[in-house]
Amino acid sequence: MRRSVASAIAALLVATSVSAQTRIEPRRNSFKPSQDVQLGRQAAAEIRRQLPQLNDGPTDALVERIGRRLVAAVPARLAQPAFRYSFDVVNLREINAFALPGGPMFLHRGMLQAARTDDEVAGVMAHELSHVVLRHGTLQAAKAQKFQLGALAGQVIGSIVGGTKGAIIAEGSQIGLATYFLKYSREYESEADLLGAQLMARAGYDPRQMARMFRTIQQQGGNRGPEFLSDHPDPGNRHDAIMREASSLRIAGVANTGPAFASVRARLAQMPPAPTTQQVARAQQR
Ligand SMILES: [Zn+2]
Repeated sequence: MRRSVASAIAALLVATSVSAQTRIEPRRNSFKPSQDVQLGRQAAAEIRRQLPQLNDGPTDALVERIGRRLVAAVPARLAQPAFRYSFDVVNLREINAFALPGGPMFLHRGMLQAARTDDEVAGVMAHELSHVVLRHGTLQAAKAQKFQLGALAGQVIGSIVGGTKGAIIAEGSQIGLATYFLKYSREYESEADLLGAQLMARAGYDPRQMARMFRTIQQQGGNRGPEFLSDHPDPGNRHDAIMREASSLRIAGVANTGPAFASVRARLAQMPPAPTTQQVARAQQR
């Protein structure tokens, strides 16, 4: 009798492990974590000189809150103690966001205005944070044959500020950053989606909202398609894969701020429209 109870429990454990969350493993990286930090810090300093900051207290506070919760949710086995996370809101119109090696993250105002809840913002941020934690930027850079650490920062900036693939500002730089650095492979996309969903649940956000936000991005991209999806290509069945992962996750608490997010959205809607990245790049050329 006792044995059959034990085997019933064993069977139950097997059954639950079938729907367990996906275990994401870090990959071998020829860069040191301190090089991720150095590279990201250099690029972030240059980006802050070139891109217009929003500088709106309540908006910054909301984004900072979401970012800190997500960072705190990174499992110990994946944590990078050397990394320094920061969350900037840039006053740009596109629905976009990007994160640099070692921790600096930049969110476009257009992204915040397209999101309906802070869970959706958390979805994009959790995805970006996952690329940082898993060190996808330097993993991709390491794939480049003639990679030089010093040369990369300029390419980063050119490709971000230059609007159409860095053509305007990054003239003369032979490789677009997009190729190595912020334009991720489908394999890395899949990892960032799944780990991102896990971070969301651990931080108290609903991971299904990440899938919803990606749909919004896709729909609002217009005829040329959103830049975000060209840097973060759909690994195939993205929506269903995130929803499947989400169904294996337990959401720890409720982090959604509801009215606080609505009030930030109202503030953003009342401001003069944000310029496009291309407008900013052209103005800097004069
Ligand atoms: Zn991505």
